[in-house]
Amino acid sequence: MTGSLAVVGLGPGDPRLLTPEAAAALARAHALYGYGPYLDRVPRRAGQSRHASDNREETARAAAALRHAAQGAHVAVVSGGDPGVFAMAAAVCEQIEQGPDSFRALDVSFVPGITAMLAVAAKIGAPLGHDFCALSLSDNLKPWDAVERRLDAAASAGFVIALYNPVSRARPWQFGNAVERLHRHLPATTPVVIGRAVGREDEDVRVTTLAEAATAPADMATLVIVGSRETRVVARPGRPPLVYTPRAAAKVSA
Ligand code: SAH
Repeated sequence: MTGSLAVVGLGPGDPRLLTPEAAAALARAHALYGYGPYLDRVPRRAGQSRHASDNREETARAAAALRHAAQGAHVAVVSGGDPGVFAMAAAVCEQIEQGPDSFRALDVSFVPGITAMLAVAAKIGAPLGHDFCALSLSDNLKPWDAVERRLDAAASAGFVIALYNPVSRARPWQFGNAVERLHRHLPATTPVVIGRAVGREDEDVRVTTLAEAATAPADMATLVIVGSRETRVVARPGRPPLVYTPRAAAKVSA
């Protein structure tokens, strides 16, 4: 039997945001690999094995899934959101590059999912309506001074910035530090969207400003979108505000 490996994005959490292609890849798998809480989102099927591992074990998980597929099984590795955004797809590619020839001979596919920044943006309007970038504030895999350089470059170049991994138990200071850094380039009134657990029961999306952002309740399930100088907030009676970044840059520069 010829095995296969699919790296599957589960979206932000709401089952309605799982694509039909992802559902088909999950249904076809003999074995599922992933971080426990993500695997818990996948309905159980008879005859399908589950291999849960810790969040930090991405390399070992990728290698184990590839070995399993090389033995002939259809294997799915799951990720929250999109697997190509700060997630398992790159870990799998790394193992394919570095591992035995059998890994490179495998039928491998990548099934996209709705990434957190798109799910958060859709809850509030169109904050990513013009040029934007995404940064992870995790310094597990890169030094913090690289994060600072990228924040400086992105804010001064006028990008809207989506911040993944804003805090963790081990790094509670990083989000405040990033906000302080962005404040060097952007006005205190710059709109900031704080989206927590979007697509899940405890979802919370709020709008604040750069001046107030550091005190916002951000945690590991939070995605932050920091506006640019162009980003606007539209107040609405009896409805939450809309946040958007116009498609055309202001014609008169400050
Ligand atoms: N592959 C994932 C991102 C993994 S990094 C994706 O494409 O969404 C993990 C970070 O993603 C979290 O720290 C948080 O910043 C963000 N995140 C993931 N799911 C989220 C959700 N439902 N709501 C808000 N942020 C989320």
